Amino acid sequence: MATELQPARASQSVLTVDLGAVAANYRLLRARLSRARCGAAVKADGYGLGAARIAGALAKAGCEDFFVADLGEAIALREALLPSARVYVLNGLLPGEAEEFCRHGIVPVLNDLGQIAAWAAAARVVGRPLPAIVHFDTGMSRLGLPPAEAACLADDPLRLSGIDLHYVMSHLACADEPEHPLNHAQLAEFDLLRRRFQNVAASLANSSGIFLGPDYHFDLARPGCALYGINPVPGHPNPMTPVVRLEAKILQLREIDPPRTVGYGAAHRVTAKTRVATVAAGYADGWLRALSGRGGAYVGDVRVPFAGRVSMDLITLDVTAAPQVRVGDSVELMGEHLPVDDIAATAGTIGYEILTRLGSRFHRRYINDFPPAGA
Ligand SMILES: *Cc1c(COP(=O)(O)O)cnc(C)c1O
Repeated sequence: MATELQPARASQSVLTVDLGAVAANYRLLRARLSRARCGAAVKADGYGLGAARIAGALAKAGCEDFFVADLGEAIALREALLPSARVYVLNGLLPGEAEEFCRHGIVPVLNDLGQIAAWAAAARVVGRPLPAIVHFDTGMSRLGLPPAEAACLADDPLRLSGIDLHYVMSHLACADEPEHPLNHAQLAEFDLLRRRFQNVAASLANSSGIFLGPDYHFDLARPGCALYGINPVPGHPNPMTPVVRLEAKILQLREIDPPRTVGYGAAHRVTAKTRVATVAAGYADGWLRALSGRGGAYVGDVRVPFAGRVSMDLITLDVTAAPQVRVGDSVELMGEHLPVDDIAATAGTIGYEILTRLGSRFHRRYINDFPPAGA
Protein backbone atom coordinates (compact mmCIF):
# COMPACT_ATOMS: atom_id res chain seq x y z
CA MET A 1 0.00 0.00 0.00
CA ALA A 2 1.54 3.27 -1.10
CA THR A 3 0.62 6.72 0.05
CA GLU A 4 1.46 9.72 -2.06
CA LEU A 5 0.58 13.32 -1.40
CA GLN A 6 0.37 14.04 -5.10
CA PRO A 7 0.80 11.86 -8.17
CA ALA A 8 4.25 12.00 -9.75
CA ARG A 9 4.63 14.15 -12.82
CA ALA A 10 5.72 12.24 -15.92
CA SER A 11 9.24 13.66 -15.77
CA GLN A 12 9.74 13.15 -12.03
CA SER A 13 12.08 10.56 -10.63
CA VAL A 14 10.53 8.52 -7.82
CA LEU A 15 12.02 7.94 -4.37
CA THR A 16 10.28 5.07 -2.59
CA VAL A 17 10.65 4.73 1.18
CA ASP A 18 9.60 1.35 2.55
CA LEU A 19 8.17 2.07 6.01
CA GLY A 20 7.57 -1.65 6.54
CA ALA A 21 11.32 -2.18 6.13
CA VAL A 22 12.02 0.60 8.67
CA ALA A 23 9.69 -1.14 11.14
CA ALA A 24 11.33 -4.53 10.42
CA ASN A 25 14.77 -3.00 11.02
CA TYR A 26 13.53 -1.54 14.29
CA ARG A 27 12.26 -4.95 15.41
CA LEU A 28 15.55 -6.60 14.45
CA LEU A 29 17.57 -4.11 16.51
CA ARG A 30 15.19 -4.37 19.44
CA ALA A 31 15.50 -8.17 19.37
CA ARG A 32 19.27 -7.81 19.77
CA LEU A 33 18.73 -5.71 22.90
CA SER A 34 17.63 -8.18 25.50
CA ARG A 35 16.82 -5.74 28.28
CA ALA A 36 17.41 -2.27 26.90
CA ARG A 37 14.79 -0.10 25.25
CA CYS A 38 15.27 0.86 21.62
CA GLY A 39 14.94 4.52 20.66
CA ALA A 40 15.58 6.04 17.24
CA ALA A 41 17.71 8.84 15.81
CA VAL A 42 15.50 10.73 13.35
CA LYS A 43 17.64 13.87 13.05
CA ALA A 44 18.22 15.57 9.69
CA ASP A 45 14.60 14.86 8.69
CA GLY A 46 14.91 11.16 9.43
CA TYR A 47 18.28 10.85 7.63
CA GLY A 48 16.72 12.56 4.62
CA LEU A 49 13.74 10.21 4.34
CA GLY A 50 11.04 12.30 6.09
CA ALA A 51 11.10 12.41 9.90
CA ALA A 52 7.34 12.57 10.44
CA ARG A 53 6.60 9.48 8.32
CA ILE A 54 9.59 7.56 9.66
CA ALA A 55 8.80 8.40 13.29
CA GLY A 56 5.14 7.57 12.76
CA ALA A 57 6.06 4.12 11.48
CA LEU A 58 8.55 3.60 14.30
CA ALA A 59 5.99 4.66 16.91
CA LYS A 60 3.61 2.01 15.57
CA ALA A 61 6.45 -0.52 15.91
CA GLY A 62 6.73 0.42 19.58
CA CYS A 63 9.40 3.14 19.63
CA GLU A 64 8.88 5.81 22.28
CA ASP A 65 12.21 7.71 22.33
CA PHE A 66 13.18 9.92 19.39
CA PHE A 67 16.43 11.86 18.98
CA VAL A 68 16.71 14.93 16.74
CA ALA A 69 19.48 17.49 16.31
CA ASP A 70 17.84 20.79 17.20
CA LEU A 71 14.75 22.44 18.62
CA GLY A 72 13.31 23.25 15.18
CA GLU A 73 13.38 19.58 14.21
CA ALA A 74 11.88 18.64 17.57
CA ILE A 75 8.94 21.04 17.28
CA ALA A 76 8.23 19.83 13.74
CA LEU A 77 8.29 16.23 14.94
CA ARG A 78 6.30 16.78 18.15
CA GLU A 79 3.07 17.26 16.20
CA ALA A 80 3.50 13.97 14.33
CA LEU A 81 3.76 11.92 17.54
CA LEU A 82 1.62 11.07 20.51
CA PRO A 83 2.23 13.21 23.62
CA SER A 84 3.59 10.08 25.35
CA ALA A 85 6.51 9.85 22.89
CA ARG A 86 9.70 11.52 24.09
CA VAL A 87 11.58 13.85 21.75
CA TYR A 88 15.20 14.57 22.73
CA VAL A 89 17.35 17.36 21.29
CA LEU A 90 20.98 16.25 20.94
CA ASN A 91 22.46 19.68 20.22
CA GLY A 92 21.48 20.82 23.71
CA LEU A 93 19.76 23.75 25.35
CA LEU A 94 20.83 27.10 23.95
CA PRO A 95 20.32 30.47 25.66
CA GLY A 96 16.72 31.66 25.43
CA GLU A 97 15.30 28.28 24.36
CA ALA A 98 14.14 26.90 27.73
CA GLU A 99 10.66 28.34 27.48
CA GLU A 100 10.07 26.79 24.05
CA PHE A 101 11.38 23.40 25.20
CA CYS A 102 8.83 23.51 28.03
CA ARG A 103 5.96 24.73 25.90
CA HIS A 104 6.37 21.92 23.35
CA GLY A 105 7.19 19.20 25.86
CA ILE A 106 10.65 18.55 24.39
CA VAL A 107 13.54 17.12 26.36
CA PRO A 108 17.03 18.65 26.04
CA VAL A 109 20.25 16.67 26.11
CA LEU A 110 22.31 18.86 28.45
CA ASN A 111 25.87 19.17 27.19
CA ASP A 112 27.64 21.32 29.80
CA LEU A 113 27.29 22.64 33.35
CA GLY A 114 25.88 25.92 32.07
CA GLN A 115 23.04 24.12 30.32
CA ILE A 116 22.37 22.11 33.48
CA ALA A 117 22.19 25.33 35.51
CA ALA A 118 19.87 26.94 32.96
CA TRP A 119 17.51 23.94 32.95
CA ALA A 120 17.48 23.76 36.76
CA ALA A 121 16.62 27.49 36.81
CA ALA A 122 13.80 26.89 34.30
CA ALA A 123 12.45 24.16 36.60
CA ARG A 124 12.35 26.64 39.48
CA VAL A 125 10.45 29.12 37.30
CA VAL A 126 7.80 26.61 36.22
CA GLY A 127 7.65 25.07 39.70
CA ARG A 128 7.91 21.44 38.61
CA PRO A 129 10.71 19.00 37.72
CA LEU A 130 11.84 19.20 34.09
CA PRO A 131 13.06 16.13 32.17
CA ALA A 132 16.56 15.94 30.67
CA ILE A 133 19.40 13.72 29.57
CA VAL A 134 22.95 14.59 30.65
CA HIS A 135 25.62 13.82 28.06
CA PHE A 136 29.20 12.95 29.06
CA ASP A 137 32.03 13.24 26.55
CA THR A 138 34.07 10.04 26.82
CA GLY A 139 36.12 10.43 23.66
CA MET A 140 34.25 12.18 20.85
CA SER A 141 35.40 15.64 21.98
CA ARG A 142 32.36 17.09 20.25
CA LEU A 143 29.40 17.61 22.59
CA GLY A 144 28.83 16.64 26.21
CA LEU A 145 30.39 17.41 29.59
CA PRO A 146 34.18 17.09 29.42
CA PRO A 147 35.63 14.78 32.12
CA ALA A 148 36.38 17.61 34.57
CA GLU A 149 32.81 18.93 34.36
CA ALA A 150 31.41 15.41 34.70
CA ALA A 151 33.45 14.91 37.89
CA CYS A 152 32.27 18.27 39.17
CA LEU A 153 28.63 17.26 38.61
CA ALA A 154 29.12 13.88 40.31
CA ASP A 155 30.67 15.65 43.32
CA ASP A 156 27.84 18.16 43.54
CA PRO A 157 24.54 16.44 42.60
CA LEU A 158 22.56 19.41 43.92
CA ARG A 159 23.30 21.04 40.58
CA LEU A 160 20.65 18.65 39.24
CA SER A 161 17.92 19.69 41.66
CA GLY A 162 14.67 20.27 39.82
CA ILE A 163 15.87 18.12 36.90
CA ASP A 164 14.15 14.81 36.27
CA LEU A 165 17.17 12.96 34.86
CA HIS A 166 15.86 10.40 32.36
CA TYR A 167 19.29 9.14 31.31
CA VAL A 168 22.97 9.79 31.41
CA MET A 169 24.46 9.16 27.97
CA SER A 170 27.62 9.16 25.93
CA HIS A 171 28.39 8.58 22.24
CA LEU A 172 30.87 6.15 20.67
CA ALA A 173 33.39 7.41 18.12
CA CYS A 174 34.42 4.08 16.54
CA ALA A 175 31.51 1.69 17.04
CA ASP A 176 31.68 0.57 13.40
CA GLU A 177 35.25 -0.69 14.01
CA PRO A 178 34.78 -3.38 16.68
CA GLU A 179 38.53 -3.86 17.16
CA HIS A 180 39.21 -0.19 17.80
CA PRO A 181 40.61 0.27 21.35
CA LEU A 182 38.60 3.46 21.86
CA ASN A 183 35.37 1.42 22.13
CA HIS A 184 36.48 -0.29 25.28
CA ALA A 185 38.09 2.85 26.68
CA GLN A 186 34.84 4.82 26.21
CA LEU A 187 32.80 1.98 27.72
CA ALA A 188 35.04 1.86 30.81
CA GLU A 189 34.96 5.64 31.28
CA PHE A 190 31.19 5.79 30.83
CA ASP A 191 30.57 2.87 33.17
CA LEU A 192 32.60 4.51 35.96
CA LEU A 193 30.75 7.79 35.52
CA ARG A 194 27.24 6.41 35.40
CA ARG A 195 27.86 4.46 38.61
CA ARG A 196 28.22 7.84 40.31
CA PHE A 197 24.59 8.57 39.32
CA GLN A 198 22.80 5.82 41.19
CA ASN A 199 19.37 4.86 39.90
CA VAL A 200 19.72 6.88 36.71
CA ALA A 201 19.28 4.92 33.48
CA ALA A 202 22.08 5.00 30.89
CA SER A 203 22.40 5.16 27.10
CA LEU A 204 25.51 4.59 24.98
CA ALA A 205 24.94 2.60 21.77
CA ASN A 206 24.19 3.92 18.30
CA SER A 207 23.41 1.37 15.53
CA SER A 208 26.87 -0.14 15.38
CA GLY A 209 27.18 0.00 19.16
CA ILE A 210 24.26 -2.42 19.45
CA PHE A 211 26.40 -4.97 17.58
CA LEU A 212 29.36 -4.53 19.95
CA GLY A 213 27.52 -6.73 22.44
CA PRO A 214 25.42 -6.52 25.59
CA ASP A 215 28.06 -4.61 27.61
CA TYR A 216 27.31 -1.63 25.38
CA HIS A 217 23.50 -1.80 25.60
CA PHE A 218 22.74 -0.27 29.03
CA ASP A 219 19.09 0.88 29.26
CA LEU A 220 18.40 2.66 25.96
CA ALA A 221 19.96 2.36 22.50
CA ARG A 222 19.85 5.21 19.96
CA PRO A 223 20.16 3.64 16.49
CA GLY A 224 19.86 5.76 13.37
CA CYS A 225 21.55 4.49 10.22
CA ALA A 226 20.62 0.82 10.59
CA LEU A 227 16.91 1.72 10.69
CA TYR A 228 17.37 3.20 7.22
CA GLY A 229 19.12 0.13 5.81
CA ILE A 230 22.74 1.26 6.15
CA ASN A 231 25.01 -1.62 7.19
CA PRO A 232 25.93 -1.21 10.90
CA VAL A 233 28.60 -3.92 10.63
CA PRO A 234 30.84 -2.87 7.72
CA GLY A 235 32.83 -5.76 6.27
CA HIS A 236 30.10 -8.24 7.23
CA PRO A 237 26.86 -9.05 5.41
CA ASN A 238 24.27 -6.35 6.03
CA PRO A 239 21.66 -7.68 8.49
CA MET A 240 19.27 -4.80 7.74
CA THR A 241 16.46 -4.65 5.16
CA PRO A 242 16.90 -2.04 2.40
CA VAL A 243 14.55 0.92 2.80
CA VAL A 244 15.13 3.24 -0.17
CA ARG A 245 14.61 2.79 -3.88
CA LEU A 246 15.23 5.55 -6.39
CA GLU A 247 14.00 5.27 -9.95
CA ALA A 248 15.13 7.97 -12.34
CA LYS A 249 13.07 8.87 -15.40
CA ILE A 250 14.59 8.75 -18.86
CA LEU A 251 14.00 12.16 -20.46
CA GLN A 252 15.76 11.62 -23.79
CA LEU A 253 17.62 8.94 -25.76
CA ARG A 254 20.10 9.28 -28.63
CA GLU A 255 22.66 7.30 -30.58
CA ILE A 256 26.06 8.81 -31.06
CA ASP A 257 29.12 7.76 -33.04
CA PRO A 258 32.81 8.35 -32.38
CA PRO A 259 34.41 10.83 -32.01
CA ARG A 260 31.48 12.48 -30.17
CA THR A 261 31.79 13.14 -26.46
CA VAL A 262 29.20 13.20 -23.67
CA GLY A 263 28.68 15.95 -21.11
CA TYR A 264 30.68 18.75 -19.52
CA GLY A 265 34.40 18.85 -20.10
CA ALA A 266 33.93 16.40 -22.98
CA ALA A 267 35.17 13.97 -20.35
CA HIS A 268 33.63 10.87 -21.93
CA ARG A 269 34.54 10.05 -25.55
CA VAL A 270 32.68 7.14 -27.11
CA THR A 271 34.74 4.51 -28.95
CA ALA A 272 31.84 2.83 -30.77
CA LYS A 273 28.22 3.56 -31.64
CA THR A 274 26.65 4.28 -28.22
CA ARG A 275 23.11 4.70 -26.97
CA VAL A 276 22.91 7.47 -24.37
CA ALA A 277 20.00 7.97 -21.98
CA THR A 278 19.62 11.23 -20.07
CA VAL A 279 17.85 10.81 -16.74
CA ALA A 280 16.27 13.27 -14.28
CA ALA A 281 18.68 13.32 -11.32
CA GLY A 282 21.87 15.26 -10.72
CA TYR A 283 24.15 16.58 -8.06
CA ALA A 284 21.45 19.05 -6.96
CA ASP A 285 19.41 15.95 -6.05
CA GLY A 286 22.28 14.47 -4.05
CA TRP A 287 23.79 12.33 -6.77
CA LEU A 288 27.32 13.38 -6.00
CA ARG A 289 29.49 14.69 -8.81
CA ALA A 290 32.21 12.40 -7.44
CA LEU A 291 30.22 9.58 -9.09
CA SER A 292 31.06 10.99 -12.55
CA GLY A 293 32.46 8.24 -14.76
CA ARG A 294 32.26 5.74 -11.87
CA GLY A 295 28.62 5.34 -10.89
CA GLY A 296 26.04 3.18 -12.57
CA ALA A 297 22.34 2.45 -12.82
CA TYR A 298 20.32 -0.66 -13.62
CA VAL A 299 17.76 -1.45 -16.28
CA GLY A 300 16.28 -4.66 -14.94
CA ASP A 301 19.33 -6.77 -14.19
CA VAL A 302 21.59 -4.97 -16.68
CA ARG A 303 24.12 -2.47 -15.38
CA VAL A 304 24.30 0.74 -17.40
CA PRO A 305 27.31 2.89 -16.48
CA PHE A 306 27.35 6.67 -16.09
CA ALA A 307 28.75 8.23 -19.27
CA GLY A 308 30.60 11.46 -18.47
CA ARG A 309 30.08 13.88 -15.64
CA VAL A 310 27.09 14.14 -13.35
CA SER A 311 25.56 17.56 -13.95
CA MET A 312 23.24 19.61 -11.74
CA ASP A 313 19.92 18.17 -12.86
CA LEU A 314 20.89 15.35 -15.21
CA ILE A 315 22.92 12.17 -15.51
CA THR A 316 23.87 10.58 -18.82
CA LEU A 317 24.01 6.78 -19.02
CA ASP A 318 25.46 4.41 -21.59
CA VAL A 319 22.42 2.20 -22.22
CA THR A 320 23.84 0.39 -25.28
CA ALA A 321 23.42 -2.87 -23.36
CA ALA A 322 19.71 -2.19 -22.78
CA PRO A 323 18.30 -1.54 -26.27
CA GLN A 324 14.69 -1.97 -25.10
CA VAL A 325 14.54 1.20 -22.96
CA ARG A 326 12.27 4.03 -24.04
CA VAL A 327 11.75 7.64 -23.04
CA GLY A 328 9.61 7.72 -19.87
CA ASP A 329 11.00 4.42 -18.60
CA SER A 330 12.80 4.40 -15.27
CA VAL A 331 16.25 3.17 -14.34
CA GLU A 332 17.26 2.10 -10.84
CA LEU A 333 19.75 4.51 -9.25
CA MET A 334 19.42 3.03 -5.75
CA GLY A 335 17.75 -0.17 -4.66
CA GLU A 336 18.01 -3.92 -5.06
CA HIS A 337 21.10 -3.84 -7.31
CA LEU A 338 22.57 -0.66 -5.87
CA PRO A 339 22.58 -0.59 -2.06
CA VAL A 340 23.19 2.78 -0.45
CA ASP A 341 26.49 1.60 1.04
CA ASP A 342 27.83 0.60 -2.40
CA ILE A 343 26.91 3.97 -3.90
CA ALA A 344 28.63 5.67 -0.98
CA ALA A 345 31.78 3.58 -1.42
CA THR A 346 31.91 4.46 -5.13
CA ALA A 347 31.53 8.15 -4.27
CA GLY A 348 34.18 7.97 -1.53
CA THR A 349 31.76 8.74 1.29
CA ILE A 350 29.38 7.00 3.74
CA GLY A 351 25.75 5.96 3.35
CA TYR A 352 24.67 8.62 5.86
CA GLU A 353 25.82 11.35 3.50
CA ILE A 354 24.08 9.81 0.49
CA LEU A 355 20.74 9.54 2.32
CA THR A 356 20.81 12.96 3.96
CA ARG A 357 21.49 14.64 0.60
CA LEU A 358 18.59 13.04 -1.26
CA GLY A 359 16.95 15.97 -2.97
CA SER A 360 13.55 17.56 -2.65
CA ARG A 361 12.67 17.28 -6.35
CA PHE A 362 12.06 13.57 -6.26
CA HIS A 363 8.49 12.41 -5.97
CA ARG A 364 8.41 10.70 -2.58
CA ARG A 365 6.30 7.63 -2.12
CA TYR A 366 5.86 5.81 1.19
CA ILE A 367 4.93 2.14 1.05
CA ASN A 368 4.00 -0.60 3.55
CA ASP A 369 2.91 1.76 6.31
CA PHE A 370 1.10 -0.77 8.43
CA PRO A 371 -1.23 -0.39 10.13
CA PRO A 372 -2.17 2.62 7.97
CA ALA A 373 -1.60 6.09 9.46
CA GLY A 374 -4.63 7.11 11.49
CA ALA A 375 -5.98 3.54 11.73
C1 LIG B 1 23.37 10.37 15.13
C2 LIG B 1 23.52 9.88 16.51
C3 LIG B 1 23.11 8.58 16.83
C4 LIG B 1 22.70 7.56 15.79
O1 LIG B 1 23.87 7.07 15.15
P1 LIG B 1 23.87 5.96 14.00
O2 LIG B 1 25.30 5.72 13.74
O3 LIG B 1 23.18 6.57 12.82
O4 LIG B 1 23.14 4.77 14.52
C5 LIG B 1 23.13 8.22 18.17
N1 LIG B 1 23.58 9.08 19.12
C6 LIG B 1 24.01 10.33 18.83
C7 LIG B 1 24.51 11.21 19.91
C8 LIG B 1 24.01 10.75 17.51
O5 LIG B 1 24.46 11.99 17.21
